[in-house]
Amino acid sequence: MIVYKFGGASVRSAEAIRNLAGIVSGSEGGLLLVISAFGKMTNALESLLESWYRGSGDRYSMFRQIRDYHEEIITSLFGEGSDCVMNDFNRLASEIEVMLEGSPSGNYDPDYDRMVSFGELASTRIVSSYLESRGTGTFWADARQWLITDNTHREANVDFTLSGERLRKVLSQAGDRIVVTQGFIGGTKDGTATTLGREGSDYTAAIAANLLEASCVTVWKDVTGILTADPLYYPGAEKLDEISYQEAIELSFYGAKVIHPKTIKPLQNKSIPLYVKSFDDPGGSGTLIHGNAGAAELRPVLIVKKEQMLVSLAPRDFSFVVEDCLSRIFAVFFRYRMKVNLIQHSAISFTICMDNGGPFVSRLLDDLRGDFRVLYNSGLELITIRHYTQASINEHVSRRDVLVEQRSRSTVQFVVGCPHTSS
Ligand code: ASP
Ligand code: MG
Repeated sequence: MIVYKFGGASVRSAEAIRNLAGIVSGSEGGLLLVISAFGKMTNALESLLESWYRGSGDRYSMFRQIRDYHEEIITSLFGEGSDCVMNDFNRLASEIEVMLEGSPSGNYDPDYDRMVSFGELASTRIVSSYLESRGTGTFWADARQWLITDNTHREANVDFTLSGERLRKVLSQAGDRIVVTQGFIGGTKDGTATTLGREGSDYTAAIAANLLEASCVTVWKDVTGILTADPLYYPGAEKLDEISYQEAIELSFYGAKVIHPKTIKPLQNKSIPLYVKSFDDPGGSGTLIHGNAGAAELRPVLIVKKEQMLVSLAPRDFSFVVEDCLSRIFAVFFRYRMKVNLIQHSAISFTICMDNGGPFVSRLLDDLRGDFRVLYNSGLELITIRHYTQASINEHVSRRDVLVEQRSRSTVQFVVGCPHTSS
C-alpha cells in the first residue's frame, strides 16, 4: 500500500486535477489518496464562517463565489457529462446553505469544523468522480467515519486504535479500487466533524500510512522537494536529496512550509519513508525523508516566516510570576489555536512572535488585554537558519533591523523588520 497526498495547489484547477490523474494512473499497486480542499478554499470557508458569525449579508455572495469556483472546475472536467457530479456537489453545498440561513450555534469551534470540512468533502467527491470517468476505479471514503478523534474541535486528537479498525474496513470494502479520502478532517465517535489543525492533510496521510503500515508516502507539492530556502525569494535555493525524520521535524517546526509538523512522528514510528515531490515533475527524485540520512542535511537551511507580529505582555499588576503568567498566556493561545513561533521573557515582560493573519488575532489580543498590558509590532519577519554559518547570517540578516535574536548550537532565529508600535 502506498499513500499519496495532494495539497490545495495540486488541485487548484481543472488542469491541475488532470495532472493529478496522470500521476495516479502511473502508479502501481494499492493506493490511498489523501486530498485537500481546492486551492485556497479553506481560507475562503474560514472567512465565510466569520461573516456568518457577524450576521453579515455578504455571506451569501461569499458562498456563491465558493460554489462558482467548484462549478467551473466541474464543468471543465466533465463537460457535457457533468450533471451527475453537479447534482452531487449541489447536495453538499445545500448543507452549507442551510447553515447560512440559520444562526450559528454559538459554539465556534464545532461550527468551524462543520463548515470548513466542506472544502475537503467537495474536492474529494469531484476528484474521485473524475478518476472514475477516466476508467480508474475509486472508493470514496468519508474521513469523518474512519479518522476517529476526540472532540477537541479544530485541533482534534486521533484515536489510532479505532481509526485503524475503521480504515482497514474501508480498505476491504474498496477491494482493488483506489481509496480517495479527505485530508485534514475527521469525526468523533458519534460522527460529528472535527479537523486536525490548518494544513493538516499531510498529517492525515501520515496517520493513514501508519495505520496501514504503508510502504511509503509521497506528498506532491509545487516545489521539487525540500529546499535550502524558498526559491521564490532565493533563486539559488538547492534541493536536499535526503534528510532524517528528526531534521524534517525541526524544519517544519521552525516554519518550513513543506510539511506539517505532526506528519513525521507516525511515519518515524513505523519507519515509513516520506517523499516530497513536485507534481510538475513526477519523475524527479524529490526529497526522501527517512531514518538514516547523510551529512548533506547539515547545509544551512533558511526559513522565513512573513507577516509576523511581536507581542509584548506585561502583567497589569506588575506581579510577575513566570509559571502563572505562562499558563494564562498559553491557555489563551490554545483557545484560539494560535501558534507561538518564538518566546522571550525578561523580569517584567513576555515577548511572543506569532503569525499576524486569520480572524483570531484581534480576539486573542483582546483576551490578553484582560490580564496584561499589550504592546505589539507588526509587519515583521521571523528568519530561522538551521545549521547556520557566519556567512549565512551575513547574507540574510546583516542589513536587517533585528528586534529579537535567539541562538542555539544548531539554529539561530531573528525577528526582523521596520516595525511601528501600536497598543
Ligand atoms: N485544506 C486545509 C488547509 O488549507 C488542510 C490542508 O490543506 O492541509 O488548512
Ligand atoms: Mg489547503
